[in-house]
Amino acid sequence: MNYISTRNKELKLSSAEAIIKGLSDDGGLFVPETFPRLKKSDFAKLSEMTYIERANFILKLFLTDFTEEEISKCTEGAYGSGFGSEKVSPLVKIGESEYILELWHGPTCAFKDMALQILPYFMTTAMKKTGEKKTVVILVATSGDTGKAALEGFSDVDGTKIIVFYPSDGVSDMQKRQMITQDGSNVSVFGIRGNFDDAQSGVKKIFTDKKITEELDKKGFAFSSANSINWGRLVPQIVYYVSAYCDMIKGGEAENGEKINICVPTGNFGNILAAYYAKKMGLPVNRFICASNQNNVLTDFLRSGTYDRNREFYQSISPSMDILISSNLERLLFDVSGKDDKKIKELMDKLSKDGCYTLTKAMHNRIGKLFWAGCCDDYFTKVRIFNTFADTGYTPDTHTAVAIDVYKQYVEQTGDMTKTVIASTASPYKFAGSVLSALGVEPYGHDDFEQLDLLAEKTETDIPGSLEALRQKKIRFGDVIDSKDMYAAIKSALGK
Ligand SMILES: *Cc1c(COP(=O)(O)O)cnc(C)c1O
Repeated sequence: MNYISTRNKELKLSSAEAIIKGLSDDGGLFVPETFPRLKKSDFAKLSEMTYIERANFILKLFLTDFTEEEISKCTEGAYGSGFGSEKVSPLVKIGESEYILELWHGPTCAFKDMALQILPYFMTTAMKKTGEKKTVVILVATSGDTGKAALEGFSDVDGTKIIVFYPSDGVSDMQKRQMITQDGSNVSVFGIRGNFDDAQSGVKKIFTDKKITEELDKKGFAFSSANSINWGRLVPQIVYYVSAYCDMIKGGEAENGEKINICVPTGNFGNILAAYYAKKMGLPVNRFICASNQNNVLTDFLRSGTYDRNREFYQSISPSMDILISSNLERLLFDVSGKDDKKIKELMDKLSKDGCYTLTKAMHNRIGKLFWAGCCDDYFTKVRIFNTFADTGYTPDTHTAVAIDVYKQYVEQTGDMTKTVIASTASPYKFAGSVLSALGVEPYGHDDFEQLDLLAEKTETDIPGSLEALRQKKIRFGDVIDSKDMYAAIKSALGK
């Protein structure tokens, strides 16, 4: 199967090339030229399989230049022992038609592990295939979860180095602690004086600076990205939606062929796009419910057809969704435009010039039939955490609570009682302070670890082992630098 760019469909790459490259030179994103289809009999077969077997089945349809043996090595390395649940992504029923898909049983307790545990395996396999001899340097700017998940995935992976920049005052205490105590001989972590955008634009500048890339090229290094625009991060996410449906069939919760809804707390539009791709493969989906926090640029867009990032940015208690430019939306637009690469280029140029664009009527209609959108601010997020715990005994994290709240709005407004899978993207322990305060337990005056203990006591659940283990870990990366010194930091990290 070939991969084409959303801004130039004449460009054709293998999956190995697309994964190594990350982003197309024309600024577009790589997408598969066609989508493989799953038949009803495939879903029946898949229902009898383990998560890893399901992943092997689906991934080989997309990564046609990988051998079956290579794919098995990737999936076993990623999902074999590093996940705290044998099911990898278990489904928990919390209401008549509500199912929570827990995507946070990986080493960092957020859903980014589902993709970032396997991406390093994809990359090193792809490098062998394409004969890439250079050391691949993964540069990451993070607002919290991606940095840690990428560090954990790439730690001590041969042929790679990883350097992470985070805003020193823009991440939660637990997120910071997770990053600055990271193990591994090929990892470096720096705090930046500034916000996430400063870290992000610093990384982008270095990525696209010809002089810098040539200088490093001579020394045997090549930059790559672990950002969610990389196809290697998207494709493993398709697997868990298919897997969730198979669990429903297997558990007698749904008939094979019965339609479901999927509700996703959304930031960069990667996770919900993977669900859309699962539908393109044949997963019977009625509606996608796109949930945003107070940064509701997607809610407005899906309702009106106009994307407008010119608005105030809010720092919320669901920080991994504090995003005004949802990069993966470009892939959806490419699809609903009938692969009109010229139109996509025009819309994206308009976005970078004016910060806004409007869809054609036809494109907006197509999206409106499939997607429903809603948003939820911090106050209602906390109310939703409180009510969910009180009504069902289940404790959602802040991001998951946004999704549950928007799902409730959807049911209230449409009356649609189709069974719905709600993606749960983080463990409540990762945002213990906010969750405690929502549950009526005062978190202030307690340090990070006391908060974990309080939450365990309140909810009668166990603290995830990887967060518990942080108590013993020494700080390795205390450096905080100015964003103008990022390149110097990279050179020192690479020992050059
Ligand atoms: C990254 C993240 C999201 C948003 O996912 P996208 O794929 O960017 O839409 C939601 N919740 C958590 C906890 C995350 O880490």
